[in-house]
Amino acid sequence: MTSPQHIAILGATGSVGRSALDVVKSIDGMEVFAISGRSQLDLLEQQAQEFHPKYVVAADPVTATPFQFRTDAEVLIGAEHLKTIASDPRVDTVLASIVGFAGLESALAAVEHGKRLALANKETLVVGGHLINAAAVRSGAEILPVDSEHSAIFQAIQSGKRSAVKKIVLTASGGPFREFHADEMHGVTVEQALAHPTWDMGRKISIDSATMMNKALEIIEAKWLFDISADQIEVVIHPQSLIHSMVTFVDNSTMAQMSPPDMRLPIQYALTWPDRVAGPAADFDFSVAHQFDFHPPDFDRFPALELGFEVARTGGSAGAVVNAANEAAVSAFLDRKLSFTDIVGACREVLEQHNFESHPTFEQLVAADRWARQEMAKWITA
Ligand code: NAD
Ligand code: MG
Repeated sequence: MTSPQHIAILGATGSVGRSALDVVKSIDGMEVFAISGRSQLDLLEQQAQEFHPKYVVAADPVTATPFQFRTDAEVLIGAEHLKTIASDPRVDTVLASIVGFAGLESALAAVEHGKRLALANKETLVVGGHLINAAAVRSGAEILPVDSEHSAIFQAIQSGKRSAVKKIVLTASGGPFREFHADEMHGVTVEQALAHPTWDMGRKISIDSATMMNKALEIIEAKWLFDISADQIEVVIHPQSLIHSMVTFVDNSTMAQMSPPDMRLPIQYALTWPDRVAGPAADFDFSVAHQFDFHPPDFDRFPALELGFEVARTGGSAGAVVNAANEAAVSAFLDRKLSFTDIVGACREVLEQHNFESHPTFEQLVAADRWARQEMAKWITA
């Protein structure tokens, strides 16, 4: 019998983190070494009681210090411990499922220490793709995509040589406003924007899906994961979310990956690759009729898409700036301080004002992130 894989789940209390624990429960050979969460401490405690990790990291000292954890695990309080568990020599695999820029440092630590990185946190590559890839080359770390589109591309791309890839086609559900007229989008509410038609996800990514900033971030993510230029990436609207993305080879053969929408499948594949094992995801049901629709995206109603292609071409510090501006804008929209249709326009304005760095260091990325959040705050109060 092979020894179990020791896994650290960063962001265990989130949508991806909870699905990952479901996968760990259903398949053999995985042991949870550490879990982390920032809020929902009751849930974090419950997860510790069920999965018996060695460590629990509670990232926010303000909420965690007064909380009495009932667990045998060692409880580490403070975000600095995310890096500690991501680089612990006993850990084989790190699932990066924290949301936003907050997930970058621990994901980078995992890569620097040669771990398998199962990467859900797309913001990590959007902001610091060049640092992550360079660190992976140095350490030999494997980066396995968890984002469903990128997992699909990773699966489809294995059917040909990398040199024979012509383009990758990212599918997008189109979000809740796919059929809204431009005028109707001005007044959309937080509740409408959070109601994704095909996926049940965290709040930030749900808003990103509604603006299609999520697809913009995924364009940039794909560029870094598959070492492909922005001009070889296409986006297609596929409202059913059954085909999760495609790869077209130079002979014009297109390979697609399909499965019912369930994040547990791409999470599991990132953990077990190159193996496939039976898991909790459902089989495709061909005893009922299905329809697969494909439409070109509307670049006018969803200006985030063009922004995504531009940032993928520009590289450097542009990803950090757009990402931070978007995080700040989404949080202001959720607080009802910014209108839905201002999110992307404000991000573009912040991007246009920034001092571009072509090869930013980690410290420069942190500074760019902070600067963009401040600029967005000014934009909102202006
Ligand atoms: P979520 O909001 O449900 O969960 C986020 C997790 O990160 C929670 O455990 C939370 O406690 C933790 N966290 C939040 N802020 C933190 C901080 N500042 N420091 C430390 N921990 C913090 O988010 P989610 O939907 O699970 O998404 C997680 C990541 O995966 C995102 O980057 C998202 O884009 C990506 N992703 C999610 C899905 C999905 O289906 N939910 C699909 C593809 C990709
Ligand atoms: Mg996705």
